[in-house]
Amino acid sequence: MSTDISTKFVVEKAKTSRFSEVDFETLVFGQVFTDHMFECDYIDGEWQTPIIRPYQPIMVAPSLKVFHYGQAVFEGMKAYKDDDGQVWMFRPDQNQVRINKSSKRLAIPEFPKELFFEALNRLLVLDEEWVRKGDGNVLYIRPFVIATEPAIMAATSTQYKFMIIMSPVKSYFRGDVNVVIAEEYSRAANGGVGAAKAAGNYAGQFYPTNLAKAEGYQQVIWTDDTTHEYLEEAGTMNAFFRINDTLITAPVSDRILDGVTRKSVIDIAKREGIPVEVRRIKVAEIVEASKNGSLKEIFGAGTAVVISPVKSFSHAGVHYPINQPKDTYTSLFKKLITDIQYNRAEDTFGWRYKVSAANY
Ligand SMILES: *Cc1c(COP(=O)(O)O)cnc(C)c1O
Repeated sequence: MSTDISTKFVVEKAKTSRFSEVDFETLVFGQVFTDHMFECDYIDGEWQTPIIRPYQPIMVAPSLKVFHYGQAVFEGMKAYKDDDGQVWMFRPDQNQVRINKSSKRLAIPEFPKELFFEALNRLLVLDEEWVRKGDGNVLYIRPFVIATEPAIMAATSTQYKFMIIMSPVKSYFRGDVNVVIAEEYSRAANGGVGAAKAAGNYAGQFYPTNLAKAEGYQQVIWTDDTTHEYLEEAGTMNAFFRINDTLITAPVSDRILDGVTRKSVIDIAKREGIPVEVRRIKVAEIVEASKNGSLKEIFGAGTAVVISPVKSFSHAGVHYPINQPKDTYTSLFKKLITDIQYNRAEDTFGWRYKVSAANY
């Protein structure tokens, strides 16, 4: 569907492609980018001409508000290629709604829905070669918005830049994850920005995560900021706990991000007849379940890793290994979700989105 804005869409194609220079076997997550990027500025109360141009550095003033006050939000999405060469996305409507929710919380103007989808479709059609066939090959898509007013007064920016960059990645088994359950630091607080995909949420997690790393753990599972008694999420992933055959995850709140993978797991669990409870879960409950042998699995769910199994957790200085059963929910959900994403399974929920030049 074309709109007034799309008739002004500018596309500057790259003269040559970097595709043949890339060693796809040794890709490190998020270090290589496709030939093109999308850029759209917000000036004088309006989004300006949308532009696709060759991927390149952007030149900006050091006074840019984003550098000083952190007004920035982002999204994480993926594109998949099926065996017939068709490119698909997974529930991109959810990311479109969420980036605007995040923007609203950070006082950033919302980005028009039609333009969001037009930009994605145009980029993916142009850089279609970068979405490679085969299980594990995937294109990670990073839309983001930054405050670009060149002025250091601490007030809402009057200018913004919305961009989309895309990075080919290979999902491989990264080894099990050992986690520390937070007792001192917090990721988010009531009334704060924890439910937004705000850049600063990540900045605040690096230091406590580094402390966990120094102890031999890879990630932190955050708890509520008031009592540290309730399990919340992993900071880039929502957390799931399996006690006997029941799957438990915390309800989303001011402090917990409403993950697309999380809600997909919940819907699939219901479809598969797996008991699933969305409720507050106490640290004491999983410690007890670990002691009596009913804690079967913990896993994280998020776009980047899909489903990531947790091998052990630590709380109050005690290490608790998790003895996973032979048939894990972790591998079941990973298979059921990726089969939908790669167009290998029936899409009973209508989650797949077909990328096409017909969309603009
Ligand atoms: C992005 C993110 C997730 C996962 O969300 P998905 O939509 O499944 O990718 C979970 N927690 C936080 C804090 C996140 O930023």
